[in-house]
Amino acid sequence: MVEIRGLHKAYGDLKVLKGIDLTVERGQVICIIGPSGSGKSTLLRCVNLLETPTGGQVFVEGEELTHPDVDIDAARRKVGMVFQQFNLFPHLKVLDNVTIAQRRVLKRPKGEAERIARENLAKVGLEDKADSYPAQLSGGQQQRVAIARALAMNPDLMLFDEPTSALDPELVGDVLTVMRKLAQEGMTMLVVTHEMGFARDVADRVVFMDGGVIVEDGPPEQVIGAPRHERTKTFLRRVL
Ligand code: ATP
Ligand code: MG
Repeated sequence: MVEIRGLHKAYGDLKVLKGIDLTVERGQVICIIGPSGSGKSTLLRCVNLLETPTGGQVFVEGEELTHPDVDIDAARRKVGMVFQQFNLFPHLKVLDNVTIAQRRVLKRPKGEAERIARENLAKVGLEDKADSYPAQLSGGQQQRVAIARALAMNPDLMLFDEPTSALDPELVGDVLTVMRKLAQEGMTMLVVTHEMGFARDVADRVVFMDGGVIVEDGPPEQVIGAPRHERTKTFLRRVL
């Protein structure tokens, strides 16, 4: 489903990713944890080509996204992304936020795009907010709109970059519930998160990154429950 081989990314002299190898099977949920600056966001951004890797390869569904001849727009369409800041269009109603990329990128007719938008809003529990503006919603609701917007594009893979970090604590649960449901439905997900409870319950594998490399990769009961490396232990002592 996703295969990352020898991925490198540098900004000038700053080497941020130093050879990442990671395979994600269809339907798996991988949680990526690690200290600030370890390269987690950069890794996700290389998977949907928001950043151009300086070395290595990324394959999604067998197609090499890092190939020089790849159609970047077509490749990116397969990959949905949800950010810490929800990045909704403030001047558009919720329904229009969820239809705009469907219409512009996938060229879906208005009626079809709206039907799909409403289905996905229902999925995240917001069918009654279609006519609201983002500013009229809580942070957790806005983030669920962002998830619906990504799902409406029928991605093969969903990337989440600290989707709950900007939320008030009491709003985190609703977003995690939606993500759990997606995981149960078989969505392939790469999730950067500090929510260790979510990682423990939902992840098939937990990947601990530090200094641009994967230090530890295994089932949650191993990486969170019985970490082998000193760096992982030190990190977990701080976050748990
Ligand atoms: P956090 O937990 O704080 O989100 P992270 O693990 O996601 O951290 P990244 O955002 O991937 O870390 O950043 C890794 C390193 O790359 C940092 O040192 C950061 O300053 C640097 N970096 C990221 N983006 C750029 C950029 N566009 N130009 C230059 N340096 C960058
Ligand atoms: Mg980050």
